[in-house]
Amino acid sequence: MRLAIFGPPGSGKGTQSTRLANSYNLTIISTGDLIREAIAAGTPCGREAESYVRHGELVPGKVVRELANQAIAKQGYSEFILDGYPRTLEQAGWLSEYLKSYNARLQCVVSLMVPDEILVSRLSRRRLHRETGQIYHLDYSPPPPDIPPEEIIQRLDDHPEAILIRLETYRAETFPVEDYYRRKGILIEIDGTGDVESIQSRIVKHVDRFSTLMPA
Ligand code: AMP
Repeated sequence: MRLAIFGPPGSGKGTQSTRLANSYNLTIISTGDLIREAIAAGTPCGREAESYVRHGELVPGKVVRELANQAIAKQGYSEFILDGYPRTLEQAGWLSEYLKSYNARLQCVVSLMVPDEILVSRLSRRRLHRETGQIYHLDYSPPPPDIPPEEIIQRLDDHPEAILIRLETYRAETFPVEDYYRRKGILIEIDGTGDVESIQSRIVKHVDRFSTLMPA
């Protein structure tokens, strides 16, 4: 199966892609994670990307295309879920062309819809465990007291100025991509509010229906 998940920052797409990956035995290809790894490793791609990520802006498309294509190729062009790619119409065009050249295409695109005020609260109170990447929310799922506070960090783009830029960028650049997939008839729009399990079961219900309608 070839899926993609969309949603503004803080919509829970990372959490839901992990769950979908487990349910359908897929590998997650997250361009955000690939970029953060490249930054941490100090690669040329990482050095080019760092200031864009810090400011909440999109990284130049060619850097992301390279990272995404390599990860898709490693997967054998199937059994993946894309998280955070494509994010612009240009990237969506590249992805279609790239998959087409391997006789493949996305079968289903999930869009998580969450109101802005919930997104801002989730992002500004979000924390991560430095080693495991486990996500916490200071109010709703605080880090366990046995974890030393210095191991709990905030993402470098989860500060208020970057959050606003990321939300605006999503509206300007990524909403049109959702429309691109809506016109192709493969977009599933899901209410992304409520508890994690309910959101997951909404998604799975639709993806199951889709995977029978849209065979690989
Ligand atoms: P994410 O973890 O998906 O929220 O991505 C974190 C940051 O990585 C974004 O704010 C962008 O700076 C960068 N990024 C991730 N995916 C892309 C993409 N497809 N195109 C451009 N920049 C991206």
